Amino acid sequence: MGSVRDSNERLSGLEPYDPKYLPAEVMLSANESPFDIAPETRERVEARLGELAFNRYPDPLANGLRDGIAASCGLERGNVLVGNGGDELLFDVFLAYGGPGRTFINLPPTFSVYAYNAHLTGTGIVDIPRLDDFSVDVDAVVARLSEGDIDLVVLTSPNNPTGNLISEVGCRRLLEASDALILLDEAYIEFADASLVSLLAEHENLLILRTFSKAFSLAGVRVGYLLGSRKVIDEFTKVRQPYSVDAVSQLIASCVLEDRDTVVHERVAGTVARREELFRRLQDMEGVEVWPSAANFLLIRVANAHGVWQELYEGHSVLVRDFSSSAGLSDCLRVTVGTEEENAAFLSALEKVLGTQAVRPSG
Ligand SMILES: *Cc1c(COP(=O)(O)O)cnc(C)c1O
Repeated sequence: MGSVRDSNERLSGLEPYDPKYLPAEVMLSANESPFDIAPETRERVEARLGELAFNRYPDPLANGLRDGIAASCGLERGNVLVGNGGDELLFDVFLAYGGPGRTFINLPPTFSVYAYNAHLTGTGIVDIPRLDDFSVDVDAVVARLSEGDIDLVVLTSPNNPTGNLISEVGCRRLLEASDALILLDEAYIEFADASLVSLLAEHENLLILRTFSKAFSLAGVRVGYLLGSRKVIDEFTKVRQPYSVDAVSQLIASCVLEDRDTVVHERVAGTVARREELFRRLQDMEGVEVWPSAANFLLIRVANAHGVWQELYEGHSVLVRDFSSSAGLSDCLRVTVGTEEENAAFLSALEKVLGTQAVRPSG
């Protein structure tokens, strides 16, 4: 004895999800907010924390927070489910609507967690690559849906890491093509002001994912939510972990949600303005291709992207995300919109790196 038998065969060959988070002076790799929650919000959190009973289990469904989210979206409590970050809910989506003998349509290049969860849950994957401009090949997806065997489609709008939106017309066509569950991942929708939440009223097969990690500055707290028809949300109450959203996280998310029309709104507007400025500066830079984005990040293409990534990090302590080895994203890097100072540091570092690279002999 002393040895251990193999784990589930689905785990063999699976690489753990690696956010490639390294310490840096300028952190522009994870699409976080560069700003922590406002001091007034933190004071409210601290005051309410003083009254929280740590010895009691939290409200399993986070009903107080559910009601707040529902009110902010014009929905009811039964249309909302809160989870331990969007990532936990993404796993629940594959537990509830994927699994062995079931199939999901993935639209790469996109967030890698979907395919990862499919592998983990034994869900079949049908990849329908995006078109050259990264838009969804709606005709191809509709055609594949018409075969009738698809259980789940994951759409991401704005898409990560390409930043583009799905059109309302395109989304409607997918919703109407079959009864497959369409998960619309709106993790960055606050930066786009283009939510398709109104489609929930007519489409029982639409499920929307949101998070407090990006626009609401709470990546460290881990709260996300699903919006859907009662029928779908009820299914998720069966697969979710009963106490996955702890009492402290429920309290913090509730406080931050109260700021959505004030601090959060202003910060999102500021991020959008800085994104547009960064976009223009990158467009003007020689040797850089940049795509328009509706999110809080930009995708760029530069020659020898991996080398550029490394030089930005090692030479300038600027951390961006390297996608150059992902299918469909050769020589691409993703940069999060930071503070004005961080964006300036990134631009100046990139200019220097590209300048030195240009004079370096190729190969
Ligand atoms: C960040 C992100 C999420 C969720 O992140 P959490 O921090 O787990 O809430 C979901 N989808 C996409 C596309 C994301 O980029």
